[in-house]
Amino acid sequence: MTFVIINDVMFMKRCEVDRSKLSPGMRQYMEIKDQYPEELLFFRLGDFYELFFEDGILCSRELELTLTGKNAGLEERVPMCGVPFHSVKPYIEKLVNKGYKIAICEQLENPKDAKGTVKRGVIQVISKGTIVDYEMLKAYDNNYIASILDINGMYTITYGDISTGSLYILDVIKDKDKLINTILNLNIKEIILYENNDVELSLLLKNTYGIDITISPYYLENQYEYLYKDLKEMRYILGIKHLLYYVVVKELKDVSHIREVEIVNPLEYLEMDVHTIRNLELFETLRLKERTYSLIWLLDKTKTAMGSRMLKSWLSNPLKDKKEIISRYDMIDKLRQEFILKDELITELDEVYDLERLCGKTMCGNLNARDVLQIKRSLKVLPSILDKIKKLGFNFTFNDEQELYQLLEKGIYEEPPIGLREGFLIKDGYNKELDELKEIRSGGKEFIASLEEQERKRTGIKNLKVGYTKVFGYYIEISKGQISQVKDEFGYERRQTLTNCERFISPALKEKEAMILNAEEKIIELEYNLFMEIKEQIKKEIFNLKDIANSLAMLDAIISLATCADEYSLVRPEILDERRIEIVGGRHPVVERVSKNEYVANDCMMNEDVNTLLITGPNMSGKSTYMRQLAITIIMAQMGSFVPATSAKLPIFDKIFTRIGASDDLVSGESTFMVEMMEAKNAIVNATSDSLILFDELGRGTATYDGMSLAQAILEYVNKEIACKTLFSTHYHELTILDELKGIKNVHVEAYLKDGNVTFLHKVNDGAVDKSYGIHVAKLAGMPKDLLDRAEEILKYYEGNDKKSPVLENTQVAFNFDEPEDVSSPVLDKLKDVDPLKITPMDAINILYELKELSKK
Ligand code: ADP
Ligand code: MG
Repeated sequence: MTFVIINDVMFMKRCEVDRSKLSPGMRQYMEIKDQYPEELLFFRLGDFYELFFEDGILCSRELELTLTGKNAGLEERVPMCGVPFHSVKPYIEKLVNKGYKIAICEQLENPKDAKGTVKRGVIQVISKGTIVDYEMLKAYDNNYIASILDINGMYTITYGDISTGSLYILDVIKDKDKLINTILNLNIKEIILYENNDVELSLLLKNTYGIDITISPYYLENQYEYLYKDLKEMRYILGIKHLLYYVVVKELKDVSHIREVEIVNPLEYLEMDVHTIRNLELFETLRLKERTYSLIWLLDKTKTAMGSRMLKSWLSNPLKDKKEIISRYDMIDKLRQEFILKDELITELDEVYDLERLCGKTMCGNLNARDVLQIKRSLKVLPSILDKIKKLGFNFTFNDEQELYQLLEKGIYEEPPIGLREGFLIKDGYNKELDELKEIRSGGKEFIASLEEQERKRTGIKNLKVGYTKVFGYYIEISKGQISQVKDEFGYERRQTLTNCERFISPALKEKEAMILNAEEKIIELEYNLFMEIKEQIKKEIFNLKDIANSLAMLDAIISLATCADEYSLVRPEILDERRIEIVGGRHPVVERVSKNEYVANDCMMNEDVNTLLITGPNMSGKSTYMRQLAITIIMAQMGSFVPATSAKLPIFDKIFTRIGASDDLVSGESTFMVEMMEAKNAIVNATSDSLILFDELGRGTATYDGMSLAQAILEYVNKEIACKTLFSTHYHELTILDELKGIKNVHVEAYLKDGNVTFLHKVNDGAVDKSYGIHVAKLAGMPKDLLDRAEEILKYYEGNDKKSPVLENTQVAFNFDEPEDVSSPVLDKLKDVDPLKITPMDAINILYELKELSKK
């Protein structure tokens, strides 16, 4: 036999065990494990889930649990690692997040009823994309699993969140970038591929983006047909069958809470690529990758997890349909008028739990009585919420499920344990048999008293007693003096003779005794069964509960937007049919909240004939912020929210592209300039005249000439060929002459100088800026004074105000410049290469520094 050696301890491998020697329990384990070779098998033994062999070793390493051994009939003990049943969740969560799949194997019968080994079987498999326990999931995120099929030159992505029971299909043209973009935007956690014909793609998804990949060449037949019976497209049907095979057959999930499939039409929504979503910090910040200080962080005032997810999906999918957008505005207006109703609704929504995920848990998780109480409490407030929805005139409506509420109110005990086999699940008064059993359990003493009374009357023996010992159980005790009065017809059987008395039992007594002793066990069993019946009742209402969840989510999300409108002084935008932007007093909502300084509001005026705003201004003046502000305003407007401005008139955009700042794709290791060009290309290829493009300091990542030429060429192209609204910030002042072209307008962010210090006004005004204040910014950054003075000197020379060569002056000690022609100086050589009109202030400082270094030699 070979051994795995870990920490100098030897452990046997599962595949090399002589199975004939195994104990029956371990043999059962082996048979089940054979069916789940890739999963970690959590094998239920009493109060623990045990993992054996390699699973045990791995689990002890990953979870830092003690590795022990179990006697299984072999010479060596089998390596074993145990996780307590009661606190299994965090362990599962940790393992699943690391990409392991877990097969949960339960006892399928009560050990007491079992003949021989208790029947066991895997009841479900959990993987990253199919967690249903709301405790393990982020409340504000969906958890998607997807099937990707490559059919007829199209990627069909069928994706769903099993925890909420939602299912979608989306077509993506066969372009790998698009596919990855979509997968990342949706934040899909696990992907099922039909075959591995594109190894590169699956490796990329797996290694670079941490998405779990499974190959599964199967389709689910003859189940859940209602999900696709009305679909015409074969590839959609196949997509559903492919995803469901994995979820239903491989992972043993009941997905009856998936009510329907939604075919997503990307054309209905404002298109944003990953870069845009990242650059605009819609869901997380660029630097820390955190939700805090992102736009969703600002806008999410929801009270329920469902509402939070709904709001997120609104922000991910801003609308393009004017009517739909306006209907959201109308609801916000209405809520602001009826603020008392709104505040009451907020209080009531606070009582609502994650109904959507509770539905998921009901269908394919371990629903416990605490979860059911959450359902109950959520249902309680429904009539009142529904009433207010009607008063507001909103068209979300649902059945308020008060019958189910009554059932749960009557049935479920208020402080139940997590487990289902400990009793305390069901309230008194719900079930007669249960009440009787409880009476018997608690009424042992009363029973004795009443039996004693009854038997004394029946037999006429005055001092007859009923007692109990552990060894004998219940007995009837009669003192020696009265023994003669015991008659055969009493049915007493003598059991024990003591000095002063004799003890008897009777059939009635034994029967009662059995009842009392069994009562506990029966209570547990009965409570379990009653709980399961209640669970069935919940299952029957599942579609309706999902309807409720959906309505509450929308209500919660719209209330959240109304609250934001109040709290952040947002204004209702006017949607224009012509391509004109007219924003007065626009703000960046997050910067405004977070920045310590007063935020300077700015207008953005772009008439129909203006395509491009060419933005100049010193570093740190607020160019990038101004650009982001416009994009965010548009996105907010199209998601149906009011916007951060004094007034706003906007057309509807179809796509937004951004190339902002240094969002180096560190993971995929592409260089800044390459990323820059790829993002720019993406915009140029895909934008239409209804799109918005933000190009922030394009060309910065390469040499000056290259950069400027490319920037100009791109600017001209976009302005002429695409003619969409474009904000183009640049540090190449030379480009400002382009405003002679039709469609291009110069604006600049103002700064002013006082006593040699630059002050940023953050105010955007018409026209180009004449000065770039690079040296002043360097001063702000704390550069040495000598160096700054020197830079000033050089600048004067380059600007032509000072004819004296700055190099000459500074280097005369080191070189003899009386006969400059004869001297070959590295400083001069370097200088000859410099075109002062085509370098940035930063370049100037760098060159200056180099010159200084050279001059020292
Ligand atoms: P640039 O892109 O011109 O270098 P940024 O847009 O990055 O400048 O802005 C620089 C800093 O100025 C930011 O930290 C931001 O907080 C602040 N800022 C920008 N715009 C404004 C504004 N309108 N009002 C107040 N502060 C602003
Ligand atoms: Mg900037």
